[in-house]
Amino acid sequence: MITDIKGLHHITSMAGNAQSNNDFFTKTLGLRRVKKTVNFDAPDVYHLYYGDAVGTPGSVMTYFPFPHMPRGRPGTGEVSTTGFAIPEGALGYWKNRLQDHGVTGLTEETAFGADTLKFDGPDGERFSLVEAEEDDRPGWTGNGVSQETAIRGFQSASMRLRDGGAMSELLTFMGYRALETDGPVTRFAIEAGNEANILDVETLPGKEHAAQGAGSVHHIAFAVENREKQLEVRRALLDTGYQVTPVIDRDYFWAIYFRTPGGVLFEIATNEPGFDRDEDTAHLGEALQLPSQHEHLRDRLEDSLPPIVD
Ligand code: ZN
Repeated sequence: MITDIKGLHHITSMAGNAQSNNDFFTKTLGLRRVKKTVNFDAPDVYHLYYGDAVGTPGSVMTYFPFPHMPRGRPGTGEVSTTGFAIPEGALGYWKNRLQDHGVTGLTEETAFGADTLKFDGPDGERFSLVEAEEDDRPGWTGNGVSQETAIRGFQSASMRLRDGGAMSELLTFMGYRALETDGPVTRFAIEAGNEANILDVETLPGKEHAAQGAGSVHHIAFAVENREKQLEVRRALLDTGYQVTPVIDRDYFWAIYFRTPGGVLFEIATNEPGFDRDEDTAHLGEALQLPSQHEHLRDRLEDSLPPIVD
């Protein structure tokens, strides 16, 4: 069994419009844009990162905004809901704030005994807010949300699968433990993680496979401390029969990827070196940062990428 995974690192989705994506995560949710770069594999598209003050692993929501991309069709084989943790007592504040910002799809429900506020992102993707006890991660207060209410980071990610069995086996191998089942959803958690510790697996046997598009989660990344731990995890996955990519340098972390049973793409990402490796913490996310292999494209990209007004 793998013991080096410390919870979620980041979650990466696709969007249809960079400006509305940016406005939603910074102005509505109050997160900090910690990096403005491009998709390293397709540099004509932005890669935008939002999180806490420094983009601590476990807080980082990232997007590839493809202009005019049609919306995805929700279904199985994907992450269906991304959950953020907020401080105790902050749910009422968020309900009012999201209403005031015209956020759609607001619903209140109880999941695993906790009051949960669900809502739509700009491309119809689903998010939830849950009050988390004993979560002492500091939130980002730079966009007008107080420390008493600011989002702490991820609480959970929910996956929808036709057959949850193989995923359950994989998560157990990755160090997660099944906690309880609520209807079709089984909750898994990792102990001694970074607080972004929960994964929910919803089993829907007859449900159609999702079609990816704007609003779809592209992949979900798990945190390991460093490159040495990452290589150990890679070896363990390969030994179990997973097809894992070589280690890829993403400038702010090192990444490996593998496709899981049911179709969800998993990544294992290192906590090092972090988002302040190429810019001052005070100015994170402001200027367009390009990896060295794409620096020669700067003039063209600055011209062709849609401007984002903060
Ligand atoms: Zn990633």
